[in-house]
Amino acid sequence: MRPRPNFTLTVHMDGLEETHDRILERKGTFKIAVEGIKKAKKLGFRVCTNTTIFKDTDLVEIEMLFSQMTDIGVDGLLVAPGFDYEAVGEDMFLVRREIERKFAQVFEMSKRFRFWSTPMYLRFLKGEKQLQCTPWGNPTRNPQGWKAPCYLITDTHYPTFREMMEKTDWNRYGVGRDERCAQCMMHCGFEPTVVTEIAKSWKDIWEMIVWNLT
Ligand code: SF4
Repeated sequence: MRPRPNFTLTVHMDGLEETHDRILERKGTFKIAVEGIKKAKKLGFRVCTNTTIFKDTDLVEIEMLFSQMTDIGVDGLLVAPGFDYEAVGEDMFLVRREIERKFAQVFEMSKRFRFWSTPMYLRFLKGEKQLQCTPWGNPTRNPQGWKAPCYLITDTHYPTFREMMEKTDWNRYGVGRDERCAQCMMHCGFEPTVVTEIAKSWKDIWEMIVWNLT
C-alpha cells in the first residue's frame, strides 16, 4: 500500500488501554494500534480512528482518548453508538434514548476535536434530526462476498457488487421496516443519508460548508 489522498486507514479505538483491551478481549491491542497509527503517519498515510460509544462508556475517558489520538497525529475521528443488533446480544449496547443523551455530550466534543463524523449525523444521534438508513451506502465486502443488506445484518452474500445491488430488496430494511433495525443509528447506514438529505435545508448546507472548511 502507498499513501494516497483518497485512501484512509481507519483504526478502531474504543477507549484508553484498559477499556480498549477489555472490549476487544485481548491484551496489548491498544499498544499495537497506537504503534500502528504512529508508523502509518510517519509513512505519510491518512489515518482516522473509529470509536464506538457503549452504554457504560465513560465520556471523560473518550475525551482523553481523542486528545491522545490528536497528539499522535490522527487526521480525523469517527464516532458511532453500539446497539443491540442480531449478532451481538450483550447488555452493553445503547438503546435510542440513551444514545441521544450520550451524544449530546459527544456533540460538544466535536467542537474541540477534528471529527470526521458530519454535524448532521451528530445532530441525528442527539435526537435533533430524523434520518432513514441507506443500507447500500457503505457496502461491505468480506471473504464470503458482498454482504447484504449491510455491515451489521447478514441475510446473504453475493459474489458481485452488481448482484447485491440488483437482487436486494432495499425497501425491506431500515428503522420501522425490519425489527433488527429498530435501535440502529450506525454511521455505516446513516452517514450516506446525510449526502442525499443535505440539499433539502439551507441551514444544513451552511453547517456542512462550515464543517468542511474548518
Ligand atoms: S438500519 Fe440500516 S445499517 Fe442499521 S441494521 Fe438496519 S439496514 Fe443495517
